[in-house]
Amino acid sequence: MTRVIFLGPPGAGKGTQAKTLADNWNIAHISTGDILRQALKEQTPLGVKAQGYMDKGELVPDQLVQEMVQERLSQPDTQSGWILDGFPRTVNQAVFLEELLQKLNQHGEKVVNLEVPDEILIARLLQRGRKDDTEEVIRRRLEVYRSETAPLIDFYSSRQTLLNVNGDQSPEEVTGELHKLIAA
Ligand code: AMP
Repeated sequence: MTRVIFLGPPGAGKGTQAKTLADNWNIAHISTGDILRQALKEQTPLGVKAQGYMDKGELVPDQLVQEMVQERLSQPDTQSGWILDGFPRTVNQAVFLEELLQKLNQHGEKVVNLEVPDEILIARLLQRGRKDDTEEVIRRRLEVYRSETAPLIDFYSSRQTLLNVNGDQSPEEVTGELHKLIAA
């Protein structure tokens, strides 16, 4: 059973790697950013609530994303494994996830941290050209990452082994390393 939590700053390559690995292993790729962008496109109540935060590079309130993840992890296709990409993003969310996985009787998840230097992140994000990839919003997302999400590195290191991967390599090299680490 493969269950993986991907940590790492915006632009580290979490989405690309999570998608590739989930396809290879035929397990669910759960990206909270993708779910929110879809909700926004469809202008669902969730999308409408999330829009202002996303446009500014702020985090959507914990409660909203937690409900989304709880619903997603309760769907049958996640029974054969999953990769979480972009969740948790705060210590609150991590505590929530820990309790949720206990309730769902899902254990043995691995936590991967993709490391990439800041100047490379900014260059990559500017190239990507997503709506929330303007320079100002990118800077805010990196600040939010540092203050809200980076503490998860300590949170998980104190609980289990954190698998650190150098994300400043070609996508194929990163995938190769992840394959080896996660399968081990
Ligand atoms: P991402 O695609 O992961 O970069 O997420 C895009 C945006 O969606 C973020 O900048 C946040 O506004 C929002 N978002 C995604 N995941 C979360 C989360 N776990 N907690 C709060 N906001 C999130």
